[in-house]
Amino acid sequence: MQDILIVGAGVIGGSIARELSKYSLNVVVLDKETDVANGTTKANSAIVHAGYDATEGTLMAKYNALGNTMFDKLSEELDFPFKRIGSLVVANSEEERKHIDELLQRGIENKIPGVRIIEKDELKKVEPKINEDAVAALLAPTGGVVGPWEMTIALMENAVDNGVKLDLNTEVLDIEKIEGGYRVITNQRDYETRCIINASGVYADKIHGMVAEETFKITPRRGQYFVLDKTQGELVNHVIFQCPTKLGKGVLVTPTVHGNVLAGPDAEDLSDRANLATTADRLDFVREHALKSIKELNFREGIRNFAGLRAQPSTNDFIIEEVEGAKGFIDVAGIKSPGLSSAPAIAVDVVEIAKKILGDVALNKEFKPNRKKHYEFITETAEKKAELINQDRRYGNMICRCENITEGEIVDSIHRNVGATTVDGVKKRCRPGMGRCQGGFCGPRIQEILARELGKSLEEIVLDKADSYILTGETKK
Ligand SMILES: Cc1cc2nc3c(=O)[nH]c(=O)nc-3n(C[C@H](O)[C@H](O)[C@H](O)COP(=O)(O)OP(=O)(O)OC[C@H]3O[C@@H](n4cnc5c(N)ncnc54)[C@H](O)[C@@H]3O)c2cc1C
Repeated sequence: MQDILIVGAGVIGGSIARELSKYSLNVVVLDKETDVANGTTKANSAIVHAGYDATEGTLMAKYNALGNTMFDKLSEELDFPFKRIGSLVVANSEEERKHIDELLQRGIENKIPGVRIIEKDELKKVEPKINEDAVAALLAPTGGVVGPWEMTIALMENAVDNGVKLDLNTEVLDIEKIEGGYRVITNQRDYETRCIINASGVYADKIHGMVAEETFKITPRRGQYFVLDKTQGELVNHVIFQCPTKLGKGVLVTPTVHGNVLAGPDAEDLSDRANLATTADRLDFVREHALKSIKELNFREGIRNFAGLRAQPSTNDFIIEEVEGAKGFIDVAGIKSPGLSSAPAIAVDVVEIAKKILGDVALNKEFKPNRKKHYEFITETAEKKAELINQDRRYGNMICRCENITEGEIVDSIHRNVGATTVDGVKKRCRPGMGRCQGGFCGPRIQEILARELGKSLEEIVLDKADSYILTGETKK
């Protein structure tokens, strides 16, 4: 019997798995997808919020403020991209100033370091391309940007290095109460476990419903985005938020950790938990609003659109608790924004709940906090590049010409302990296909490398989901 079974390998499941791996426990993580971070964690704004926004006293406020402070150490230990670039909420009129004054107050209540209002002159200095109407802004120096899937992959790799088991392509279909725990029935096999952690994102109410009465509902709330080419990267220095108006919450514009620009999201409640389609009218809305922050953004330099689904809980706050009447079953549900920012802090408390349930849990004396180094060839020194090529000639073979990714990096991404098995899995780990041509050139080469390294045929290689085949058969012999 397992000690703990986690449903969901997003940033929440990954953070909890890594935190649990500090203890001598038998832990397994299940996810229905082909890869970790294929749910909400794959598609969001990637902001590590400073923590001034959530209402004091909510779990969102508590975990955001705490989580934010944990990112420097975590990103260093696990080698994932994180930049503390600071955030701005811009007031475009004296009327909107009231909003940033309120946010400042909330920031003070939530004890967020360094939050202050900056006036137009200072704003123009730190953000020269900001629109001319801007009168002032709330500056939060501790805001930042992160690579959400790189973070989750790093957390899971480190958890697996420290003894956690990860079973992908494994969908939880039902849960039965048994003596001393639960039987978890999946599309692969049954698992027996003393404790279950429900970190299943937009499906959290469904998984909860397998063991207990309904106490909350999740609504998938879709948000759509533009990713702009790196040519636009120099136009924006901070995460730039707008003040909400009666037309909506505003659209943010931000640099990404890799130097692109992200604009979005809107908000739209859906009933379909898998609808990640983008739509022309919503993207028009995003573009129009983003241009209100930075007029010079060139949307002809758009290289990708995408949509993500927030897990909007009916309680309007994170739900983190052992479920009443279901001993040993812990909900980590309704983890909408700022869930990414909060994940490291949520994990610490969830592990405390689990330890109380299991009792007498020993530390894992072998715990290793660091992950095996991931080399980004193009940013290494000339000496290191030469050393890498000497060790493995494939570091001298450039596969992705937009992002400058070598065959060596791709092969490494496939053979790591949470290795890529799909074209998008390679892209998430080392970025071929993230550039201007979006994989038009390197995509087929990635398929060939995956097929060769995994001992599969080309037709067996999928883009992302289990059935997302790219090639369906030969047309000529
Ligand atoms: C538009 C948008 C913008 C956002 N912006 C930010 C931001 O800037 N900053 C921030 O802090 N947060 C942000 N968030 C929130 C953040 O992305 C989420 O809080 C976080 O990613 C949630 O992670 P998770 O692990 O709970 O969910 P997920 O990443 O969805 O992981 C849940 C996993 O459970 C798996 N699963 C579900 N059902 C089953 C089953 N039956 N069997 C097996 N596996 C199952 C899924 O496949 C999935 O991989 C944003 C979210 C959205 C949608």
